[in-house]
Amino acid sequence: MKSYDRLFIGGEWVSPAGTGKIEVINPTTEEVVGTVPDATTADIDKAVAAARTAFDQGPWPKMAPAERAAILTKVSEALKADMEPMAQLITTEMGSPVAWGTMAQVFAPTMIFDYYVGLASTFQFDEVRQGLMGEVLVAKEPVGVVGAISPWNVPLFIAAAKLGPALVAGCTVVFKPAPETPLDALRLAEMFEEAGLPKGVLSVVPAGREVGEHLVSHPGVDKVSFTGSTAAGKKIGAICGSQLKRFSLELGGKSAAILLDDVNLAEALPMLLPNAIMNNGEACIAQTRILAPRDRYQEVVDAVVEKVAAMKVGDPLDPTVEVGPLVAERQRDRVEGYFKIGQDEGAKIALGGGRPPNMDKGWFVDPTVFVNVDNSMRIAQEEIFGPVLAVIPYDGGDENAVSIANDSHYGLCGSVWTGDSERGLKVARGVRTGTYMLNSPVPVDFSTPFGGFKESGMGREFGPDGLELFLEKKSINLPAGFSPKV
Ligand code: NAD
Repeated sequence: MKSYDRLFIGGEWVSPAGTGKIEVINPTTEEVVGTVPDATTADIDKAVAAARTAFDQGPWPKMAPAERAAILTKVSEALKADMEPMAQLITTEMGSPVAWGTMAQVFAPTMIFDYYVGLASTFQFDEVRQGLMGEVLVAKEPVGVVGAISPWNVPLFIAAAKLGPALVAGCTVVFKPAPETPLDALRLAEMFEEAGLPKGVLSVVPAGREVGEHLVSHPGVDKVSFTGSTAAGKKIGAICGSQLKRFSLELGGKSAAILLDDVNLAEALPMLLPNAIMNNGEACIAQTRILAPRDRYQEVVDAVVEKVAAMKVGDPLDPTVEVGPLVAERQRDRVEGYFKIGQDEGAKIALGGGRPPNMDKGWFVDPTVFVNVDNSMRIAQEEIFGPVLAVIPYDGGDENAVSIANDSHYGLCGSVWTGDSERGLKVARGVRTGTYMLNSPVPVDFSTPFGGFKESGMGREFGPDGLELFLEKKSINLPAGFSPKV
């Protein structure tokens, strides 16, 4: 049992304004494994005030980027030293298989921090441009106070994707983690405190959506960085738009993996399927639509079913387990609802569709494969967020597969699998998503832009683009004969 009775506000552990508590429930045992204060709007006001003061009057935004990055280095080292306990903590909060989680939930965040540490000393914050009427200093300055909001599915990863670039940029941050996963966020706050982050620069205030909305609309916040569902993203974008507040959104997905007719299934599926069912299927980039050429459809279905059936389901703290429980009972209800919706629409379940036997505790569902799916069905259009795949046949050439992939409100990720990479590249260029995998097991490289087309988001995290999300550009027209040091 890991509990906190204080919030991390302005770099100090302070008593919450209210008396409400968030109970963290282990989705495997259904037992309470921790409690934290449920932050209120008054706590948010206090955190924003601290961030405002630290930004407007403190040394943080004026420090050299490399000095700020030195704090991130310490946090990254602390995470590396704490890799196993941190992965176990996250698994206990939300059910991620610990072997996958150690890499994706903890090691990957250290890679993100390390990347931004490196960028701090190579990124051109200032440049002198030859303008039409003289020289101009183009300065990239921190955008100000950031409200950062994260979901529960990859909590530390998203925290790193926001805090790494925001802090290197010189912003101050009020971070609201999801109520399902506050423990790893408060542990991260401890690491920032131990690393010597100046007071006021960071607050961590776990709370639900109403309090999150208060943070979004707070006049003291200059920029909102949000990751979560498309429904919430639309609401947040509307609020920010009405205030002309800067915002970036990383939202949902329904990514399509396209198998071309020359695909070697023995090579492709071991790379594709772990990405299709990653994190128990609770991943924005999960490749949950598998598009197969009609004349190889049955062969694809048989191979997918065989491989998914072999995935080990069970206690996610067991390092050999590949699929753990869903985050909450309501999420299991939602996924089971789609088992019925899919069958009512005329699709067939080739594997799974129920709960694994002999597991009387935990919010498990069977890894499930739907076949005879048409792309217009809800199970092909809506983000289910569970270990549920839809295998969709296509007729004709590659362009028909691309059309089906593009027939979606989402545009986050996708993949193509073929023996001919040139042909695959044509497909990759045709699909309207922000990231793509061409015969590659890597969905996201943290040194390059990541984000969504269409309803999957606005803006790009990672790479220099991710840093620029937290910068404002200022053009200073220079007098003749004056060359500032940059
Ligand atoms: P969610 O939208 O319900 O909640 C996400 C976070 O936003 C939580 O902290 C929640 O408390 C807060 N929130 C919700 N409504 C809000 C509002 N109106 N104002 C302010 N804050 C609000 O999503 P979830 O169920 O926690 O996460 C799953 C979703 O996140 C999926 O759709 C998934 O695809 C998406 N996701 C996207 C990415 C990406 O990078 N594109 C990464 C991970 C998850």
